[in-house]
Amino acid sequence: MESIYSPRAVRDLLKKNGLHAKKSLGQNFLTDRNIVQKIAEAAEVDYDTVVEIGPGIGALTLALAARAEQVIALELDKKIVPVLREVTSGFANITIVEGDAVKENFDTLVEGVAGPQKAREGYRVAANLPYYVTTPIIMHLFEKDFNIKSMVFMMQKEVADRIMAEPGGKDYGSLSVVVQFFAKPSLVTKVPPTVFLPQPEVESAVIRLDKHKSPPVNISNKEFFFKVVRAAFGKRRKTLLNALSNSALKLDKTLIQKACEKSGIDPKTRAETLSIEQFADLSENLSAW
Ligand code: SAM
Repeated sequence: MESIYSPRAVRDLLKKNGLHAKKSLGQNFLTDRNIVQKIAEAAEVDYDTVVEIGPGIGALTLALAARAEQVIALELDKKIVPVLREVTSGFANITIVEGDAVKENFDTLVEGVAGPQKAREGYRVAANLPYYVTTPIIMHLFEKDFNIKSMVFMMQKEVADRIMAEPGGKDYGSLSVVVQFFAKPSLVTKVPPTVFLPQPEVESAVIRLDKHKSPPVNISNKEFFFKVVRAAFGKRRKTLLNALSNSALKLDKTLIQKACEKSGIDPKTRAETLSIEQFADLSENLSAW
C-alpha cells in the first residue's frame, strides 16, 4: 500500500472505491503526515490501548497502531470500512468496529476487544472528530464516566477555544465549565484547513483533555450543577438573577438572591465572570433551599 498522506492519494483512494467524502458525516480526511504524528504523539498511546473515533480511511489509525499496543477503530460509515480494512491490513493490532460514538459504551467496547483488565486499567481516546457532533461525543464520554485516562481531539478551533476558556472572556461558557469540571484541557496545536481533504471552511485545533482523578469542586448533585450552569449562560446578556429566574429551572428570585448572598456573589453580575468554584458553591446553596 502506497502512502495515503497526500491530497492526491486520498482523492485516488476514494475514487478507486467509488466513494466521496460525506459532508453529513463530517468527513474531512487528514492528508498531512506531520499533523497525524503530532496527534498520535500527544495521545501518549505507547504500549496502551486506544479507541480511535471516526478512523475514516485510516490516516491517524496507522500512526496510532505504530505506537499503541491495541487500536480499536470505531467508525459509523459502513461504506468506508472496506477501504479502512485494506489500508490497515498490515497491522495485527487494529480492530475495526462499526458503531456510533455518541451511543457506544466505550468500557464494554474495550473489554470486548482488549479484555477486562485493560478496561479496568483505563485506556486512551484519540480522534480527528467529525465536527457536526463534537460536543455530543465529548459529553457522552464524560457523562457516562467511562474509564478513559486521556483524550486527544482535533476539532473546530472555535470549539477548542470555548473548551479552554477562562472566566471573563467572550469564549467562556457552559461548555468551558462542564468540560473543565471533568478534565484539564490543553492546546496541542492549531491546524490550518490546508491539511484536510476536503478542506473545512474553519480553522481547527488539537487539544488534549486529561481527566481529573477527583472532581475539582465538591458537588452533591451533579445534574443540578450542570442545569444551573446551562441556565446561567442561557441568556448571556442578562444578569445572573434574571438568567436563572427566567430559565427552565424556574427558580424564585428571592431564593436566587439569598443563595448568591451566601456564596458572596453579586446577583447582578453575569455568568461569564463566575469561576467553576463559584458555580459549584452557588449550585450547592440553591439546592439547599
Ligand atoms: N480519522 C480520519 C482522518 O483523520 O482522516 C477521518 C476523520 S473525519 C473528520 C471524521 C470521521 O468520523 C469520518 O470517518 C466519519 O465517517 C466518522 N464519523 C462521523 N460520525 C461518527 C460517529 N457518530 N461515530 C463514529 N464515527 C463517526
